[in-house]
Order: sequence, then structure tokens, then C-alpha cells
Amino acid sequence: MKDISNYIGGTLVAPVNGQYIDNITPATGKVYSRIPDSGEADVAQAIAAAEAAFPIWSAMSAKERSNILLRISEGIAKRMDELAQAESVDNGKPLKLAMTVDIPRARDNFAFFATAILHDENAMHDMGKSGFNYTKRKPLGVVGCISPWNLPLYLFSWKIAPALAAGNCVVAKPSEVTPYTAFLLSEICIEAGLPDGVLNIVHGYGHTAGQAIVAHPATKAISFTGGTATGKTIAGIAAQQFKKTSLELGGKNANIIFADANFDDALRTSVKSSFANQGQICLCGSRILVHKSIYEKFRDAFVEKVKQLRVGPPNLDSTQVGAVVSEAHRDKIESYIALAKEEGGTVLCGGHRVTPEGEYANGYYLAPTVIEGLPAQCRTNQEEIFGPVVTIMPFETDEEAIALANGTEYGLAFSVWTQNLNRAHLVADALDVGIVWINCWLVRDLRTPFGGTKASGMGREGGFYALDFFTEPKNICIALPQQ
Ligand code: NAD
Repeated sequence: MKDISNYIGGTLVAPVNGQYIDNITPATGKVYSRIPDSGEADVAQAIAAAEAAFPIWSAMSAKERSNILLRISEGIAKRMDELAQAESVDNGKPLKLAMTVDIPRARDNFAFFATAILHDENAMHDMGKSGFNYTKRKPLGVVGCISPWNLPLYLFSWKIAPALAAGNCVVAKPSEVTPYTAFLLSEICIEAGLPDGVLNIVHGYGHTAGQAIVAHPATKAISFTGGTATGKTIAGIAAQQFKKTSLELGGKNANIIFADANFDDALRTSVKSSFANQGQICLCGSRILVHKSIYEKFRDAFVEKVKQLRVGPPNLDSTQVGAVVSEAHRDKIESYIALAKEEGGTVLCGGHRVTPEGEYANGYYLAPTVIEGLPAQCRTNQEEIFGPVVTIMPFETDEEAIALANGTEYGLAFSVWTQNLNRAHLVADALDVGIVWINCWLVRDLRTPFGGTKASGMGREGGFYALDFFTEPKNICIALPQQ
């Protein structure tokens, strides 16, 4: 059994209190490694190391920082198989998914921000004969990055890479549920020659290690991805210190299918957008809204396809839906399926556990579940379930579809399926949401603003939005001599 280490001041270290948390693989329900149960003392050491490294790292040229970050990207590429395996074991996601999505994206996050800083520009505001202003962007100092378990290295690196590229030093905490690839990243950073203390990775629980990062007066900004309730706690603590926050939170996304959609494309992609990563992607479309005229046809075809999804051990090539991340999370998802029934919903498929054979029999497998017949305002249609469960319901007019889609407290990412260009643009414009995908889902361009409205978060990640977040603008005004 492996005890993983914190990464502080350039070295791999044990937690100060010597305590560890069991790390369970969802595929079998067995403990397979242990995670440091870090607390304030570990965070204080990490912050001290980051503060010591900041003058060196921030003084490096963009090119020097870029070269080091590119070496980290290459390090991830070299250990692709090992990282994908670790991600799948930690999270329960199909190995194939980790190989094709999670780890390639972590590699790309470092490469993207390593090169973005070579191509940026700063503003100059011209006042004509009176003078001009130029704006410098300075790194903030020590920043905190806290990430969730659903796309572990993908989202961890999505924060760390821009923070480091902009010249900050980082204290980061991955989810205690899926810590392993963040630990492997520490090894990669050491091999890549990242100067000591520039990145520090502290493992442990959110209410202890995570909260210590947020509350410490030396962290100048917190970039957080996770649940809306946690986001609220973090925002409350950070606001007391006027600390910058970027909050990427929950969703209850709508997948709107109009009668003029390309039926086959909408059908195929809806299966993916509902159940990829066991439905545990903040961007998954968990409420499928279908125009009344094609509702029965779409519903029946969708349920037929969903029934064919193969649920099973993540390491099998044939597996399309792996294990959900933990026993507690499985229980939560099951409680929502029970609630949906109480609220009058009909389970069209799924709604039960799946038990693979042999060592996987105690893993956390759930059949992809489709529920219809629920009112829009019921809890099942309002609250984030974050598992392989979707609801499906008909609508009659464009206005109704927009009202249904906008009718939750969330506003992260919606999909719109129509071949009518005007409808596509008009509906996209009316949706109160951070991201709209028209005739597609999860097509990503790393330069675009990423984030949500309402309870889905505050601020945007991606491209120069992230680099702006991790820097402070300073305006310098030059007055020209007047005649
Ligand atoms: P979570 O909020 O429980 O935990 C996220 C991280 O925050 C973990 O590292 C956790 O240890 C830490 N944490 C918990 N309490 C903390 C505290 N008081 N102070 C500081 N840190 C604390 O979320 P989760 O269950 O890991 O992830 C699932 C959630 O993440 C879902 O709601 C999902 O929608 C959301 N999510 C959002 C996005 C997005 O981009 N908007 C992306 C992925 C996941």
C-alpha cells in the first residue's frame, strides 16, 4: 500500500501530524493507498515555501517560465499511461476516457498557458496630446488552487498552469477523493526542474487543509472548482480579506432538442452528454427538453441506446460507464432516484445497481437512469445530482424551452439542437448561462471564457481570462508637457 506525500518546498514530505486518510478505489471498494491528512501546519509550511520562491519565479522572463512549464507538459505526455491508469483507479472512470480526455487535456493545459504568456499584450490608453496610460499586469504572489474529484488532473492543471504561467507561486489541494495524479504531478514537476516552492501540493480534507489555504492571509487569490455549497463557504471567508476568488460551481444543465434538430446527431451526443464519466461532469446535460412533436420518438430511441451502454470495471476496453466515485456518492445518487419516484417520476431505464463479477462485485456501479413525468419545479429537476441520472420532458414553444432551461438556480452550460440558424442564435442569446453549445457538447477551445452564471459560479477561466484573474493590473499614467 502506497502512502502518497505532500509536495512542499520542492520535496516530497509526510504530513506534520503523521496522519493519513484511506484512499479507496471505486471499482472494487477497496483501500489501495493512503493520503496525508494535512492541516494548518502543512499549509503554513507550503505557504512559507511559496513566499520564499515568489521573488525568483516572478522575476524570471516569460520565456524561462514557459520553458519549464513546457517540460512539465512533456513530463505528463511521457507518463500518459501511468497517469491514465492512476486516474481511472482513483476515480472509477473508464481507463479509455482517462487516456483520451483527462490526461491529454492536463498535458495541453500546461502547454497552452506556457505558450499563451509568449503571445499576450498589455493595454495602452491614449489621451492624445495630454499623455497616455499603459497597464502592467503583475502576478499576485501566493495563490490557492482547490479542485474537485470528477476530472482530477484535468481541472487541477487548468488552475495551476495559468497561475504559474502568470508568475505566481501556488499552494494547491486536489480532492481527497482522487489525489493520486496530483501526487504524480509533484514527481513530474521535480523532474522538470520547477524551482523549489513554486508549486506546493498539500493533500487532505477540504474543511481542514482546503480551508486553511483559503483562510491564510498570505494567499492573495483562490481559484476553486467544486460544489456550490463549498463555494459559498469559500467566498464568505475570502470576502473578509478582500481576496480575489474564481468560483466554478455546480450545474443543472439543459439539453434542448428542437423538432428541426438533426435527430441522429442529437440522439448520439445526448447519450454522451448525459452519461460520460458516469454523468459526473459539471457540464453534463441532466435535463433533456424535447419538442413535443418528436418527444415520444426521441425518448424511445434514447432509452433504447442508454440500455445498451455497458457498465463495468473501468479497466475493461468494453466499458462505457465505470463506477461512480464513492460509496457516499452512490448513496446520494440513489437517494435522488428514490426522491424522483416519490415526486411522481417514472424510471424508463436504470435506477438500480450493477454488480460485476469477482473482485469488482463491491464496486460502486449504477445503471444509467432516465426518468420522465416530473414537474419542472420538483427537487429532482432543480438540484444537482451529479451522477448517471437524467430527466426528460417535452416542451411546446421556444419560449417555454427557454423558460424551462433558465428555471433553476444554476447557469453553467446548455446544449441547443436545431438546424434553424435564427432559432439557434435567438435561443442562445436568451439563455442565462455561461456556455452554449449549438449542435454539439463539450467542444472546447481553451481560449474561450469558461464558467457559469447564478449559483454556477463567479468569474471565468480559460485563455487570457485566467491570466487576468491571476494578475493585478497596474495603470501607469504619463502626462506630456503642455505648451
Ligand atoms: P466539493 O465542493 O465537495 O470539493 C471540491 C474541493 O474543495 C475538494 O478539494 C475539497 O476537499 C475542497 N473543499 C471542501 N470543503 C472546503 C472548504 N471548506 N474550504 C476549502 N476547500 C474545501 O466538490 P466535489 O464533490 O469534489 O465536486 C463535485 C462538484 O464540483 C459538483 O458540484 C460539480 O458540479 C462541481 N464542478 C464544477 C465544475 C465547473 O467548472 N463549474 C467542474 C467540475 C466540478
